[in-house]
Amino acid sequence: MKNRKIKRILSANRQPMGEHQMYQPLPNHEFNSIDPFLLVHHHGPHKFAPYNQGLPFGPHPHRGFETLTFIYSGEIEHADSQGHTSAIAPGGVQWMTAGRGIVHSENIPQHLRENGGEMEIIQLWMNLPKKLKMTPPAYQGLQAENIPVAFSEDGLVETQIISGNFKDLIGPAKSLTNLQVLNVKANKGGKETYIIPDSSNILFYVLHGEVKVNGKLAIDHQLVEFVNSGETIEIETSAKSRFILASGEPLNEPVVSQGPFVMNNTTEILQAMRDYQMGKMGVM
Ligand code: MN
Repeated sequence: MKNRKIKRILSANRQPMGEHQMYQPLPNHEFNSIDPFLLVHHHGPHKFAPYNQGLPFGPHPHRGFETLTFIYSGEIEHADSQGHTSAIAPGGVQWMTAGRGIVHSENIPQHLRENGGEMEIIQLWMNLPKKLKMTPPAYQGLQAENIPVAFSEDGLVETQIISGNFKDLIGPAKSLTNLQVLNVKANKGGKETYIIPDSSNILFYVLHGEVKVNGKLAIDHQLVEFVNSGETIEIETSAKSRFILASGEPLNEPVVSQGPFVMNNTTEILQAMRDYQMGKMGVM
């Protein structure tokens, strides 16, 4: 097996969102998506003052794709029109299948709005193929203790397996599109090797740290873009680091997105808007 080839390493755009900072590695000025991965928003770390307003994500709809939120610090409360509610602590994730439509809200819990505190999260949007866009909506809230962790031989790299397999461990989140999602924390000098079929596209985002990826250095807020050649990804860290490594087969379908809806054509977007207005995605 040979090393997966890197096309380039891109720095995320920084986008202030109200009073907190947000980095957007995807989409970026070079490309729209890494099919099937549509969007990555990295919020924080942000220090909320006491009596703050929390996040500006009150009830809003989605259709046609899935969202995955990683909580690194703070806590996120999810509530949706299907009746799911859960508060997820650091090390946990929230995997929501919007499918044919859901309305949800995401915020830090009341104790963090009252007392203040730190929050760092990432939200990833994963596209669904045409045949699954109208699948029933679903929500999977997973705390850190529900998610297996594989250690590198040197013990310095901890790979959390959210979905898919790694080192004979199986991630608990059910992916409708067989995504492998790994959330990695490493100390300085750690080494690990990942094998990913060269037909899969890869989302590799470094939150913090210094990660040599197949010999090339990626640091804070950088996205590593690969070519579909080679299966092996070798990482070596020269500082305490965190990164996300997600992969999946490309859908190779037209993508038309408008705000919270991601469909295959404009007619379907207009239908989504009407269905939302008529309350067909539920109400909160
Ligand atoms: Mn949302």
